[in-house]
Amino acid sequence: MIYPIVVYGHPVLRKVSEDIDENYPNLKQLINDMFDTLYMSEGVGLAAPQIGKSIRLFVIDATGMAEDDPTMKDFKKVFINAQITERFGEKEMYQEGCLSVPNLSEDVLRETSIRMEYYDENWNFHDETFGGMQARIIQHEYDHLDGILYVDRLSQLRKRLLKSKLTAIMKGDFESRYKVILPGQKIR
Ligand code: ZN
Repeated sequence: MIYPIVVYGHPVLRKVSEDIDENYPNLKQLINDMFDTLYMSEGVGLAAPQIGKSIRLFVIDATGMAEDDPTMKDFKKVFINAQITERFGEKEMYQEGCLSVPNLSEDVLRETSIRMEYYDENWNFHDETFGGMQARIIQHEYDHLDGILYVDRLSQLRKRLLKSKLTAIMKGDFESRYKVILPGQKIR
């Protein structure tokens, strides 16, 4: 099934997500549904809080970017119970958007490399280092698990300039190609 995407201002996006275990009900189905939802909304990553579930799960499929960035060729992954253990390298600015903050994109400063522990969809454990665009996308999705949105990482000035746009989004005053859940729980 395709889930509607929870939009900026909804409290579930501000919760800290919980780890899950192998007994989590219908996990395989949920992961498949998250990929379907991701493809329908034409995103590259989707975290469980964005479909209203406060669990430490996110999926990424950036293989569509491989033409411009060959490091994305096989970058389709499931991340369960992820924990970033190190962030390093220079900080870099790069333009990000978010399915939960429709029609907006801003430059965000992030570390260029991370080390992270996680489980994949088969419950294999990984302790892996990611760099460049992969590290960028992972850090964005990972933030969702901690109730953080990329707009939180902007300068005070940028935040102030965006305030009216964010208020409009909270009120549902935007167009989107995909189904959404507004802060008042309304699905449209
Ligand atoms: Zn996002």
